[in-house]
Amino acid sequence: MNPLRQVLALLLPSLILTTAACSPPAPEPALEAPEPQAAAPANPDGTAIDLIVHGNYVLTMDEQMSVVENGAVAVDEGVIVAVGPAAEIDSRYSATNVLQGDNRIVLPGLVNGHSHAAMTLLRGVADDLELMTWLNDYIFPAEVEFVDPEFVRIGTELACWEMIRGGTTTFVDMYYHPDTIASVVDACGLRAYVSATVIGQRSPDAEGAQDSIAKGLAFIERWKGKNSRITPIFGPHSNYTLNEEQLRATRLAANEARVPISIHLSESPYEVEYSKQTYGTTSIDFYNSIGFFDGLTIGAHVVWPTEEEIPILAERKVGVIHNPTSNMKIASGISPVTAMLQAGVRVGLGTDGAASNNDLDMWEEMRLAAFLQKVDRMDPTVLSASTVITMATRGGAEAIGLADKVGSLTVGRRADLIQVSFDDVHFVPTYDVISHLVYVADEQDVASTVVDGRILMKDGEILSLDTARVRREATALAARIQAALAKRNQ
Ligand SMILES: [Zn+2]
Repeated sequence: MNPLRQVLALLLPSLILTTAACSPPAPEPALEAPEPQAAAPANPDGTAIDLIVHGNYVLTMDEQMSVVENGAVAVDEGVIVAVGPAAEIDSRYSATNVLQGDNRIVLPGLVNGHSHAAMTLLRGVADDLELMTWLNDYIFPAEVEFVDPEFVRIGTELACWEMIRGGTTTFVDMYYHPDTIASVVDACGLRAYVSATVIGQRSPDAEGAQDSIAKGLAFIERWKGKNSRITPIFGPHSNYTLNEEQLRATRLAANEARVPISIHLSESPYEVEYSKQTYGTTSIDFYNSIGFFDGLTIGAHVVWPTEEEIPILAERKVGVIHNPTSNMKIASGISPVTAMLQAGVRVGLGTDGAASNNDLDMWEEMRLAAFLQKVDRMDPTVLSASTVITMATRGGAEAIGLADKVGSLTVGRRADLIQVSFDDVHFVPTYDVISHLVYVADEQDVASTVVDGRILMKDGEILSLDTARVRREATALAARIQAALAKRNQ
């Protein structure tokens, strides 16, 4: 079975809003300190720090869902050192860099819990086809011929560009040639879990399961602790491309290396049926029975858990990543997200690969996650805007075991945050900021992206990637792929 099969078979309490959070981004209110939006350094005598980020609103996404009106976040050496009213922050600190906050909302960067980044190069190569036709006539041939470290480098750079553009600051990736992926993430400044893919067949970077586990361990050894933004992990594909022995071996290797696992979990009716036939029980129950959840597991999709399996996910603290666009486009089904959240399962959001989405826009995932649950349950009250924005930030960070570092804007956490501009007409008028972020905003509205205190995008300009070069290289490679497919399909 071709490895690209992995792509196809493939949060709450009510908001503590200041009164103004239900009104348009406010003009400067009278606050006790002078000039809350003043240019840096607001106070040359203040403590010297690296960065201050301002916003009409700062959505901290902390447990209380606190919102600071006319707020600011102070950052030094990659860490959030203070969050509060801009006037206070400006009087205490003097920053080297300041991101002004007029008509902007500051919130934590988004967490994309499941992606195959390099597949941006196969974006739209073929759509609306029966699954096996799409695979066998388009995706597989393109992958067999083209997926090498160069493909992965260009595709991952393209994905990082799009994610920085769209305000994603952390992603969990699963693809081939993980050293190349990690190198790109290292350079472009994002935060990522990079999987060493394990699959029981020949793939672009291994001869089979044993080989991919051995190569995965070596990759993890090379990258573990090297860069605090990059966590090397294992990415076993599924229980239909790996047998029980191979899955047990992967869990053992992950536990020895003390790294999490990311896997496609209960994604399709095919997978569940295969599991019943092969292992005598449904997918999640099978994994639980072999001790696969003895260690952090990030389960992508989880469209078909049984009622009995949902409590298992909660008890074993499996991080579930919901990918609504991919589930709809591939017709995988509707994940019981509401039931999982009610049962206490940690649920985040993801885009899946760009070949089955076809973009990496987490704003769209938020919106579709909400809409899909509402129409499925025939109940517009389920999966509220505040729940889905939590899933995209703190909840996603919890699902992948990173909530102590990112996902909320509180003192001591890493400075992964974004500014969303409210300049576009579709924000007029603004009654409720969170409603607009979930039901209106898209990746084009993100103004600034900061990871670990480094500004990766400022006022829409990408600073950490040569986007002209990436565009040129991606376009050239896509032309070669298109020519090869045309020749093959003649
Ligand atoms: Zn996937």
